[in-house]
Amino acid sequence: MAVIHPGAPWPYEHLVGHACFYCHLPVEPPAVVWFGYEGTLLLHPGCVLDLFVRVARDVHEIECTTGRPTTVLALRRQIEQEEGRR
Ligand SMILES: [Zn+2]
Repeated sequence: MAVIHPGAPWPYEHLVGHACFYCHLPVEPPAVVWFGYEGTLLLHPGCVLDLFVRVARDVHEIECTTGRPTTVLALRRQIEQEEGRR
């Protein structure tokens, strides 16, 4: 993850003006960019927050519907509790 500041240098300058991953409007710096395995996510700072809230809600739903924790810390605690019961 990186922040594209105004006057962005390479390798970010070619991303300026491209569509935001979340709202599809053109992105001008400052912006956030993530380089992933299958592509690049370019986002307005506010769209990062909007997307984060929705993604976090989905993770919470997974935790609630499966009864399984999803964070590394929670998984570690669960394993420690299970090992303590043995
Ligand atoms: Zn956006």
